[in-house]
Amino acid sequence: SETVERHEFGAEVGRLLDLVVHALYSDREIFLRELVANAADAVDRRRFEALTSSIPAVPEGAAVRVVPDKEARTLTISDPGIGMAKAELATNLGTIARSGTRAFTQSLAEAAPGDRPSLIGQFGVGFYSAFMVADRVEVTSRKAGSDEAWTWASEGHGDYTLAPASREEPGTEIVLHVKEDASDFLEPFRLRSVIRKWADHITIPITVFRDGKDEPANEGTALWRKPKSEISEESYTEFYRHLGHVFDEPWSTLHWRAEGALEFTALLFIPGMKPFQAVENERESRVRLHVRRMFITDEAELLPAWLRFVHGVVDTEDLPLNVSREMLQATPALARIRRAVTNRVLSELKSRAREAEDYAKFWENFGTVLKEGLFEPGEHGKDIASLLRFRSSAVEGWTSLADYVSRMKEGQEAIYVLAGDAPEALAKSPQLEGFRARGVEVLLLSDQIDAFWPERLDRFEDKPIRSVTQGAVDLSKIAPPEGAQEEAADLSRLLPLLQDALKEDVSEVRATDRLVGSAVVLAASEGGPDLQMQRLLNRAGR
Ligand code: ADP
Ligand code: MG
Repeated sequence: SETVERHEFGAEVGRLLDLVVHALYSDREIFLRELVANAADAVDRRRFEALTSSIPAVPEGAAVRVVPDKEARTLTISDPGIGMAKAELATNLGTIARSGTRAFTQSLAEAAPGDRPSLIGQFGVGFYSAFMVADRVEVTSRKAGSDEAWTWASEGHGDYTLAPASREEPGTEIVLHVKEDASDFLEPFRLRSVIRKWADHITIPITVFRDGKDEPANEGTALWRKPKSEISEESYTEFYRHLGHVFDEPWSTLHWRAEGALEFTALLFIPGMKPFQAVENERESRVRLHVRRMFITDEAELLPAWLRFVHGVVDTEDLPLNVSREMLQATPALARIRRAVTNRVLSELKSRAREAEDYAKFWENFGTVLKEGLFEPGEHGKDIASLLRFRSSAVEGWTSLADYVSRMKEGQEAIYVLAGDAPEALAKSPQLEGFRARGVEVLLLSDQIDAFWPERLDRFEDKPIRSVTQGAVDLSKIAPPEGAQEEAADLSRLLPLLQDALKEDVSEVRATDRLVGSAVVLAASEGGPDLQMQRLLNRAGR
């Protein structure tokens, strides 16, 4: 009809579809995982929004329905979720917004055709994976709170259409016209086994239509509520991937139940890889809060921002179900949960830090984020200090502050650090000469944030932390190197001349015992910012 609108896909969607459809796919059953996960997310979202707005609540006994029809060769997946308005159908299904998906497209394009199937298996490709098994997909949706419904349809080539439709209830229905070679996905038995494998932890019931009735296909027990002994490594990993939209293995899985004054269950993961969506840019923790299994929000900030790389779920009995976001912030139970969860993550890190090689994997992914915690006033400064790792002028690999202190020279009063942009350049800096000559170790700091926290932390085990670029560094109490006993040259006539020549460019010219091979070095003044901090401030135009 003339009300049907035709739209081109965004360029990247076209490319992704092409790759997905043409990768001879061995594990294509994951399309069902993707569609069922989207449906479950949509129901969660509607549940939460219904608590705080006037949209109709999710009906009692709501389920995600999977209905195969052998005669029509269609597979229909429907949910009573939040639904999509017309504009959302166009943006959510017609363009790629997620950086993860974009990175996936990139690596898929670069992979040899033979490697593509396993790549697809590792990533979730979201909604578009439907085109692995279908040569036409129709999505009819009605947004909760609106009476309008629209149908989005596409054959997975260059374009899609949008047309007005009707739907009795809010929610979404996806009809897949199943390809000739994907007929197994019209078999209820096959569908149930795929759902069990991939979506068992989803808490909303998922049913498969067989012999005239909907049969439950998932167990629907929230994974975190099961005893640890009943959970396989694979189910943990699958749950982790589902939660975080990631495809790696967790570096750490923390699953425990707190009982007594405070009752909650937590299942938390520390990722094994830095996610595409660089954690640096997200300011908040995204741990999901559930109350008696019901998803409430992922914006309760259950962990401080400097632990925002942790994914997972906290489920408690101690909050009312209809708690609003505003109320959450003021709830004492939540503050207590927050403290308990933070401490648990820190103690896990401490115990894993004993295995240097294993801990390095974590540190290289998330160390820069953890360091932000040093700026937060609070009880955790000490814990974080013990978890820091550094490059050093004296040893290979990573070292800790405690190890540094154990190697300090007799007469050495401070922990010395040098901050800059690249560890290789730092290792060659003339700033290190006098320290090297005396065998004094210097920590080499090359993250942006390293220009700022030493001042903030100030001390570790009573030892002050000093930048080697600060003028007042005093090495005189440390024995000078062998064979360097000759009298220092008399510089009393040279210094005023230099001072005169440099005028306003420097505040002072003085003799130093910090150099061995080089003639001069730039130093920072005592009270002022260290050199790297000055560089960063200059760059920021200050
Ligand atoms: P992702 O789920 O990782 O965001 P997808 O490609 O699976 O990526 O889905 C894209 C978006 O389309 C979702 O983020 C969501 O906004 C929307 N969407 C997909 N399926 C549904 C659904 N059944 N109900 C409501 N919104 C949906
Ligand atoms: Mg999805």
